[in-house]
Parts: sequence; C-alpha cells; structure tokens
Amino acid sequence: KESSSDSSAAFVPESFLSRIDSRWSDTSSYGPKKKLQGWCQLPDGEWKLGSILSTSGGESIISFSEGKVLKLKTESILPANPEILDGVDDLMQLSYLSEPSVLHNLQYRYDRDMIYTKAGPVLVAINPFKEVQLYGNDYIEAYRSKSADSPHVYAIADTAIHEMIRDEVNQSIIISGESGAGKTETAKIAMQYLASLGGGTGMEHEILQTNPILEAFGNAKTARNDNSSRFGKLIEIHFSPSGKISGAKIQTFLLEKSRVVQCAHGERSYHIFYQLCAGASKSLREKLNLRSVEEYRYLKHSSCFVINGVNDAERFHSITAALKVVHIRQQYQDNVYAMLAAILWLGNISFTVIDNENHVEVVEDEAVQTVSKLLGCDIQDLKLALSTRKMIVRKENIIQKLTLSQAIDTRDALAKSLYASLFEWLVEQINKSLNIGKRRTGRSISILDIYGFESFERNSFEQFCINYANERLQQHFNRHLFKLEQEEYIQDGIDWKKVDFEDNQDCLNLFETKPLGLLSLLDEESTFPNGTDLTFANKLKQHLHSNSCFKGERDKAFSICHYAGEVSYDTTGFLEKNRDLLHIDSIQLLASCSCNLPQIFVSKMLSQSDALEVSPYRSSPVDSQKLSVATKFKGQLFQLMQRLGNTTPHFIRCIKPNRLQLPSTYEQGLILHQLKCCGVLEVVRISRSGYPTRMSHQKFARRYGFLLLENVAFQDPLCVSVAILHQFNILPEMYQVGYTKLFFRTGQIGALEDTRNRT
Ligand code: ATP
Ligand code: MG
Repeated sequence: KESSSDSSAAFVPESFLSRIDSRWSDTSSYGPKKKLQGWCQLPDGEWKLGSILSTSGGESIISFSEGKVLKLKTESILPANPEILDGVDDLMQLSYLSEPSVLHNLQYRYDRDMIYTKAGPVLVAINPFKEVQLYGNDYIEAYRSKSADSPHVYAIADTAIHEMIRDEVNQSIIISGESGAGKTETAKIAMQYLASLGGGTGMEHEILQTNPILEAFGNAKTARNDNSSRFGKLIEIHFSPSGKISGAKIQTFLLEKSRVVQCAHGERSYHIFYQLCAGASKSLREKLNLRSVEEYRYLKHSSCFVINGVNDAERFHSITAALKVVHIRQQYQDNVYAMLAAILWLGNISFTVIDNENHVEVVEDEAVQTVSKLLGCDIQDLKLALSTRKMIVRKENIIQKLTLSQAIDTRDALAKSLYASLFEWLVEQINKSLNIGKRRTGRSISILDIYGFESFERNSFEQFCINYANERLQQHFNRHLFKLEQEEYIQDGIDWKKVDFEDNQDCLNLFETKPLGLLSLLDEESTFPNGTDLTFANKLKQHLHSNSCFKGERDKAFSICHYAGEVSYDTTGFLEKNRDLLHIDSIQLLASCSCNLPQIFVSKMLSQSDALEVSPYRSSPVDSQKLSVATKFKGQLFQLMQRLGNTTPHFIRCIKPNRLQLPSTYEQGLILHQLKCCGVLEVVRISRSGYPTRMSHQKFARRYGFLLLENVAFQDPLCVSVAILHQFNILPEMYQVGYTKLFFRTGQIGALEDTRNRT
C-alpha cells in the first residue's frame, strides 16, 4: 500500500513543536499591563486574543470578546501587536514576534484574500482553494510598472528577471510546501509572469503548454490533493541577452511508478488514463480496443473514477492539442496512446496455476492478445516473458517457471517500467522542442516545484527519498539565508552578534557517508541476493546505532531525526523499490517489439547501464545492470544542488490552510506546523536582527553621490558613502559600515531611492 494513501494528518512529534518557541519569541521585556490585549493559549492549543483585566501573583484575569472571563498564568500570555500593525505585508514589521501574532497576521490577510505575505526574504503563500482576483494581465502590468508592490508571486518573478539582467547571474525560484499547498499552481503563476515579460518569440506559448501535458502524465488524485504531482520538476527558462525567452529545459525527479499498478481507495492513477478512456475518438477507441475505466484492473481497485468538477474527456482534447504545440507528431501521439492502452490491458492479464508448486501459465484471452497487438510482439513471447525466467545455473541456461506472485510482480514491473519510460521519453521530446536552435548566450531563471517534507503514520522508501531531498534543500536554504549572511557580516568586519541556526549537516552525513551511511548500506544490501528488508534494518542498527540522528526501532523499522522532526520508516519494500529491476526476459521482449516506442525505451535503458562505472546488481548474470533508485536520485540531487548553487535563489513557501481543500478555512495548528517545518519563523527572527540590505561603497557612492551638496567626485567611495549617510540623517543603529559594503536594516534604502527618483 502506498503511504500517500494514508489520509490521517501528518503527525507532529512533540519534541519538535516545542523546539523553536522559546528562542524566537520577543517577549523578554514584556509584562502584561492592565487593559492590554494579549494572546492566550486555550487548552485545545488554539490561540485567542483577550483583554487583560488585572494581574497579580503571577496570574492574570482575561476577558474574551464573547464575554467569557478566565484566570491564566501570566507567563503563558503573549503580548499582542497594536491594531495598527494588523495585516502588515512583511512579518518582519511586527513589533512582537510570536507564534500567535504571526498566525494572526497571516489569518488577517488570508480572510481578505491577501494570500501572500513576506517573511523577510521569503514569500509565504497560503492556498486560497478558490479563485482570487490577483492574477491576469492587469496585475502583471501593475507589477511590471511597479505600481503594485504588495507581496506576490509576480513580484518575486519580477525581482528575478531584474536581478538576472542587472547582476548577470542566473536565478532560481524555489517553491516548497506539503502536498496540496499550492506549489504547482504557484510555479505556473510565476511562469505566466515570465512568459508575459519575456514573451514575443512564441516560445512562451510552448513553455506554458508543457504544464497540462506534464500534469496529465505525472499528476493524480490523492487523498490530499485532487491534482497531486507525483514527481519533482525543475524548469530552466532561458532568456536571450535582450531579455526574451529563448527556450527551456525540464528535468524531472522520482516519478511515483507504483501508482500505475496500485493506488489507495479513493485515489486515482495518473490522469491521462482516465482522460484517454473518456476522450478518445471512436476510431482511436477501436484501434486500441479501449474500454471504460471500470473495466481495467489497474484503475478499478481504488473505486474512484472521476474528480469533482473535472471533465476528463475535455481534458483529453486539450492534451492532444498541447502535444501538437510541443511538436509531438500524430504518429508518435498514436504510439503514446497505444502504450497507455497496452499498460491498462497488461493489468487485465491473468494467470492459471498449473501444478502444485503454484507455477502458472498466462491465460490466453482478450487481454494478452490486445497487449501483444499494441506492443507489436509475438503472443507466445509475451506469455513466456510473463510466466518464466531464464537463469544460468552452473553455467547452464535453464528456464524456470514463475509462481503466481512472481508472475504478477513481473507483469506489474513491466507495466511500471513502460509507464516510467514513456514519461521520461515524453519529457525528452518536450525538451527537444523547447530547445530548437538554442544558443546559450543569455541567462536563465529556474523554477523548482518539488515535494515537501513528508511524515505520515507509515513511511516507506518514497518518504525516505523525499525527505532526503528536503534535507538537501533545507541546507541550501539555511546556508543561503543564514550562514552566508553571517559570514558576510564577519568578513566585512561589522559588529554582529552571531545568531545560531540549526545546521542539518549531521543528518545529511547520516545519509551520505561512505561506506557506513544510509544510502551506501541500502545499496550494499540491495546487491546481496539474500538481502531482505529485515537484514537491511538490522545492518542499519548495527552500524548506525551511535549516530545521534538515527534511532533503531522494533523489527524492520528505524527513525531519522530530520530538521523538521523525527520520522519513523518501515523498511518493508525498501530493497525491491531500490533495486527496481526489470528482468532481462522483459527487456528482451520489449526489444523484440515492432512498435517503435518499446524499442526506444530499451535502447535508453541499455545505454544508461552501459554508462555505469559500478553496477551494484549482479545477483545473476542475466539480470539487467543498472543504478539503484536511491543512487540515481542522489546523483540527480547533487546535480540539482550544483545548478542551484550557481543561482541567486528566491524562496516561496506554500502553506495548506486545511486538510479538506476548503476555502476560508484556517486551521492554526496545521499552519503553525508548516511554518516551522519550512523554517519561516526562524528566518524572520534572524532577518529581523540583521542587516538585510547591502551595497558596495562604490555602488552606493555612484548611485547616490550626486545628491550630495558638496562636490566629492574625487574622494574615495567610503568617504562619499559616509557623507551621504550623514546628509540624509540615517540613524546610526540603522546601518553599519563594512570594509567593502554598507549594511542596512530593512526599509532604509527606500527613502534614499525616493529622493533619488524625485531628483
Ligand atoms: P502536490 O505536492 O500534491 O503536487 P501542490 O503543492 O503542487 O501539491 P497544487 O496542485 O499546486 O498543490 O494546489 C492544489 C490545489 O489548490 C489546486 O488544484 C487549486 O485548486 C488550489 N490552489 C492552489 N493555489 C491556488 C491559487 N493561487 N489560487 C486558487 N487556487 C489555488
Ligand atoms: Mg504539485
């Protein structure tokens, strides 16, 4: 069973909830006074605003708006901000920074459809789960002309474009958040803005059309989100030196293959299957021997066929049109649909047991006939590939019959592999189309839409990989925002009391250390023919028990202390999912197909294994040799971090306000948990205490020097800078003069810019 099927809330470890609170509340000097407003935490955890009527002996009497009066410990009451600060644009502006005041500020804005708020350098976006009037050409124009300045994805995209041009540095927009928080929608909104500003070449339409295609093939309805992306995505949009979009490149990560053959009750497989079955024309239907979705085993077991408010047939027509836009020719489109139908029919293939050892034969029925026709392979070859296995035993070739469960696994592995190859191929075709005639002269903006940290009741290999990726991204976030920041202050010799932040290097080491890290041990155990999930779990406990980020648990389980909390993993299925083997018999079958896509898939698989330096799987000489899933993912992740490392990052944190995908429903506890998981609270605390704006003396002198009353053209930039600061009466606590740069508190440059623009 997929863990994503689990509809219960992400559980929040106790230790984590209490971790940040004490350090970032700004309450040390506060003692509640009479008639003051304060935040009180009720026994159910909810924060409520009340008036403090009196305080004595460590206790206060509070009255709430509905007339209730309570006596509470004074120390448990947190100060509320003055009303004038209600709904500020940036959480950094709050006088009292506490959990309830942040929650209140976000809610105040959310209630008024202001779903975006800044948290220092980070944009927080709360999913409205309804249409809000914040998008479209008028808004784009307003942000382009700078007549709008409230926090918005458009503003982030605008900054990215400007910094790309001004600094000649590639940019990235890194979007994170849990499932259903709005990452994919946010990415599309950012793309819309970039397409509008950098448009004109026609390439922008093509880029926008990749969204519906990738969503059809890579998104599905889950318990958390009707349109959940089951893969991670990085799209790099290239601009010519004149600022026009010249092309793009898409990279995808870790598609959830298991969904093709199995998903939880109430969830669906990938949208495209339902769209094809609902929308195919009569002739296509006949050609593919298509039935309705209820007739396919892979689709019917979850008992969910439709999504409220979505017309699959209509969607199918838009996908067909979108595929044309990205230059996928009709012939290839037909092949794609044939593969999809073949996968569906594969699921309907059944077996009969032929002896008392549970060995099977394939039932010769419509299913197997249709698959052989759609793939273009011999029906006998297909039946053999699904029910037998070639082995080499003592240098002799033998043919072993498969048991029922082995045969089912072989069939499902073939279906999963076909789908994953199809997805990969499609992305490759799209990339070819987006890259026609590209000269990489200009710069790029990359948008990353990747699964956030996951912690469920039961966590498996998928969560293991996803959370590993999130550790890497979190480190990037930390390093960028905190570490680089501090180092810069120190290097420039300014007075700065070091702010501590959580570094997750230890946890990353737990994953990556060789040979005794989680990933190495997983690969090692995956290569042992006799390795099982249990031997793997035992090996972890044996080698990692002294690591502070690791905890062995009962049986096959272990836990990792992630930056966002402790997560317990169940190793059931880890080895098989990591090996992800497609047996050589299936590969040979695909190679024999007359249909061109299976052949392309095979040559791709083989070329990937040729390129190996190490082939971890040699359990049998006829097994295909390839990288393990975890190792491949680690490689992709390193490459990703390297690419992001060369960009100026812009972070957007998406927040899901409730579990039911409902508008106007704001669940405090759920939101607070997410704010903590993605480090938003921490970043506000640190940014507020620092000097977020900085400029070199040269640049500052050049930019504002002409405002000086005296002629200073021949003086050195540092003197000019200091003269400017004095002339404009910038308060000493608002800036620091470093060796090479000036550092400002938030909001200081704004006033200078105003003067400059008026002059
Ligand atoms: P997953 O990790 O499961 O892919 P996600 O973070 O990508 O989730 P989205 O698919 O972007 O989540 O958003 C879920 C749903 O929330 C959307 O289908 C849409 O209905 C709604 N939504 C998200 N953002 C907005 C928005 N800005 N305006 C209106 N609705 C939105
Ligand atoms: Mg998504």
